[in-house]
Amino acid sequence: MLDVLIIGAGPVGLACALETQRKGLKVAIIEKGALVNSLVGYPTNMEFFSTPELLEIGGYPFPTAHYKPLREDALDYYQRVARDEKIDIRLHQKVLSLSGEQDNFIITTDKGEIPTRNVVVATGFYDLPNPLGVPGEDLPHVSHYYKEPYQHVLQHVVVIGAKNSSAKAALQMTRAGAKVTLIVRGSEISDSVKYWIRPDLVNRIAEGRITAHFNTTVATITPEAIEVLTPDGPRTIPTDFVYALTGYHPDEALLGRLGIEPDPADEARAPLFDPATHQTTRPGVFVAGTVCGGRATSRWFIENGRHHAQLIAAHLATQATVAA
Ligand SMILES: Cc1cc2nc3c(=O)[nH]c(=O)nc-3n(C[C@H](O)[C@H](O)[C@H](O)COP(=O)(O)OP(=O)(O)OC[C@H]3O[C@@H](n4cnc5c(N)ncnc54)[C@H](O)[C@@H]3O)c2cc1C
Repeated sequence: MLDVLIIGAGPVGLACALETQRKGLKVAIIEKGALVNSLVGYPTNMEFFSTPELLEIGGYPFPTAHYKPLREDALDYYQRVARDEKIDIRLHQKVLSLSGEQDNFIITTDKGEIPTRNVVVATGFYDLPNPLGVPGEDLPHVSHYYKEPYQHVLQHVVVIGAKNSSAKAALQMTRAGAKVTLIVRGSEISDSVKYWIRPDLVNRIAEGRITAHFNTTVATITPEAIEVLTPDGPRTIPTDFVYALTGYHPDEALLGRLGIEPDPADEARAPLFDPATHQTTRPGVFVAGTVCGGRATSRWFIENGRHHAQLIAAHLATQATVAA
């Protein structure tokens, strides 16, 4: 029987695995996709905003040729850590539910059942986009995930949103020869856009290379155009492709099936957990990483979320000692 089953092989799930394994516990990770699946899905040429030492786990140095690591550097780093630590990782297996109680849990996946004493939920947020809720959102030329600019060269592209992902996508596609229109619900580009990206975008808008509509919402998407409501009235913008980069949220239905309660006092519906141990109100079930912030997905990220692993490992090791 496993001492700890970790759901999710993101950077934080990996950190939890290696820290608990180093305490002598029998550990496995169940991951529904590839190793560090969210990072695999990030924009191809993305650059992290964190410097490499802030993304390190388990004390493994993260050497890079760049001041800010690229996605490929991080993919390489985390797979080396996983292999060096010989973590038992079972990929392409989705966790569906949890039954039983601490020391006697059964995790049900789409491939079978796995007994475990404890469970750590490190499932992040990147699988479920925040929907616009408008007609046409499901059309094939609408996506909530941006990868790279090249398929849009010489095309008209609408980007919805004004945070980091939208800003970077708009700039990259413009430089690759696309004509980009930005739809922004607020009155300006978000202040949360990184200080080295925001002026670049603001200046491209000022010089007219990117068209931006502020205080504007989307009404409908059709195969050829997007209909928006601007302060000057409705407007139809012809477009070849639409990126709705409006954020993501954790799988609350899954959290419910795992018996994790949301904090009723938190607008973001973050799970209720003890900050000293990360144990939820269901004994033996812990939360780690981004999922701890609920819908506030920028509350926890790799830099600060990786430290949850030590808290959980220390607590589980104490419990194991007491049981022995
Ligand atoms: C474009 C972009 C740039 C970023 N840059 C930075 C940065 O510079 N610095 C920083 O600190 N943070 C950054 N972040 C945030 C950071 O990537 C996330 O906070 C981080 O991935 C969180 O790690 P995690 O392990 O908690 O979750 P994730 O990395 O999302 O891992 C969760 C894993 O759980 C798996 N999973 C989900 N449901 C199930 C299930 N039912 N069964 C099995 N497996 C499941 C998923 O497939 C996934 O692999 C960035 C995010 C984005 C989108």
